[in-house]
Amino acid sequence: MAQPLVVFDNVVKRFGGFEAVKRMNLEIREGEFLALMGPSGCGKTTTLRMLAGLEQPTGGDIRLAGKSLLGVRPHERDTPMVWQSLALFPFLNARENVEFGLRMRGLDKPSRRRKALDWLERLGIGEFAERDVNSLSGGQRQRVALARALATEPKILLLDEPLSALDAHLVIRMQAVLTKLQRELGITFVHVTHSQSEAFAMADRVVIMSRGEIAQIGPARDIYRTPASRFVAEFVGRNNIFAGTVNGAGDVETAAGAFTLDGKARPGDKVSFVVAADVVSLSAIRPAARNVFTAQLISEEFVGSMVTLFFEAPGGAEIKVQVQERLLEGIPREPGQLLFLSFDPSHAHILKG
Ligand code: ATP
Repeated sequence: MAQPLVVFDNVVKRFGGFEAVKRMNLEIREGEFLALMGPSGCGKTTTLRMLAGLEQPTGGDIRLAGKSLLGVRPHERDTPMVWQSLALFPFLNARENVEFGLRMRGLDKPSRRRKALDWLERLGIGEFAERDVNSLSGGQRQRVALARALATEPKILLLDEPLSALDAHLVIRMQAVLTKLQRELGITFVHVTHSQSEAFAMADRVVIMSRGEIAQIGPARDIYRTPASRFVAEFVGRNNIFAGTVNGAGDVETAAGAFTLDGKARPGDKVSFVVAADVVSLSAIRPAARNVFTAQLISEEFVGSMVTLFFEAPGGAEIKVQVQERLLEGIPREPGQLLFLSFDPSHAHILKG
């Protein structure tokens, strides 16, 4: 396998007595789109800032292409960053903002100009090159900031919540722009975000952090389907978590019912397991399926053609079911309606922590 581009080797970051990042070991591959996610204060921005050189690790080492970054100043690192605030220079126009980073690298004036215009063109805002950045829209300013960072042709681009200040429809557009650019250029992107949909839509791998530690790292699908712990399962959201004790027949007795996991748990074990919202089936009459239980419909939520239905199961647990709306034809959906839910044992994933 190819050498990782970036290695976090036992990296620790303390602020006074507080450990914001705890012995982090992380390898970032060349050309991958990595998203860092986690609850507020879990250490994702600190991790990114250490890679950018804006914070120094208290312990451990960070290497880029095999070379330690300790003591290397931010502008000597080749790790440009795009911020939520964008940090564009308000007294420069779009082209001059892009040229600025190139001037720092000692490029002559005509080459700087050509390169800046090329990048603005590439990002679809060539026509705004001479415009004052304050007169540009949020999405256009976003592209100027991206052009400025990319014009230096870095190996890695750091993105700190760059889309969080944009309207919902622009976020979707910019996600497409970012993903396309990243694939075309083959540059490694490290993207800090609060938004799960953003991380899951764009990243090759997602890192979920909790209290300064990596809780799980992997493709979005694995994080969603096979969360490593209860924390990750809850954080990811569209998961149903069941808990109970395995009886003599091998079924897990939960408040919602007794479920078989096809021998994945032993009699006497106390287990928690997750079933993702989109693998729970729904019907008005009792289906000939395994792991059937009844639950009361509470509410529903539409996202495009998908509907998430929220149920209350016996014992009070909330159960989420996510389906395409067209599959709900003929199913009564008044709040309070009792419906049959079921899931296949192969879709149950036992939680470890
Ligand atoms: P958010 O999503 O809210 O931006 P985050 O996961 O990016 O959070 P960090 O900004 O990395 O979190 O902060 C991690 C922890 O370190 C927080 O508890 C924060 O208060 C603390 N911290 C960050 N920077 C400093 C600092 N300069 N001095 C003291 N504590 C800090």
